[in-house]
Amino acid sequence: MSPRELVCATANQGKVAEIARLLPDGWMLLPRPASVGDVVEDAGTLVGNARLKARAILEATGKPAVADDTGLEVAALDGAPGVDTAIYAGEGCTDADNRRKLLGALSGMADRSARFVTVVLVAWPDGSETIVEGVCSGRVAEAERGDRGFGFDPLFVPDDGDGRTFAEMTAEEKNAVSHRGRAFRALAGELAKSPTA
Ligand code: IMP
Repeated sequence: MSPRELVCATANQGKVAEIARLLPDGWMLLPRPASVGDVVEDAGTLVGNARLKARAILEATGKPAVADDTGLEVAALDGAPGVDTAIYAGEGCTDADNRRKLLGALSGMADRSARFVTVVLVAWPDGSETIVEGVCSGRVAEAERGDRGFGFDPLFVPDDGDGRTFAEMTAEEKNAVSHRGRAFRALAGELAKSPTA
């Protein structure tokens, strides 16, 4: 039987490869067509943004599309930056700008607990959706450690670890406990249950 196709909404090659590895047998992940540009992620929620991205790909290709959206929720900041994580330090900011702002915001704070939340949404051609979530609880370190990964990796210490930040772990170690790893394993479980989900 030929594999069922799922088109990925992300243009990030690293993420595409990571997601492809997590899909169950019988499924094939296709990269986002070059003709489809970035969508404006202004839905205000992780689910809403994932839906905007997946629907744009579905409309352009006519094929089932998968999109993910992630936020970092910091308890002492009432869940911020949340859906605005990518632009925490402002439009056009760098990952380093974001980390500097977070360290400043938590300066002197005793509660450094935080969690990453990833929502994965598949938009199916019949209009239905499959939505799963992956959560990784942890805390924000006092200073950056490690040089792997991206985003807040040098500052995030997962609870299901040994005290190292994500940036001090191998990709395999991070995937085993990360929000994105958990969310895509949950999706794989859904896809494996029913080939049409
Ligand atoms: P996205 O929805 O995957 O693009 O993630 C939004 C933002 O969350 C990124 O720009 C990063 O700042 C942060 N982020 C998402 N996933 C991770 C991660 O695994 N490690 C560190 N930061 C992350």
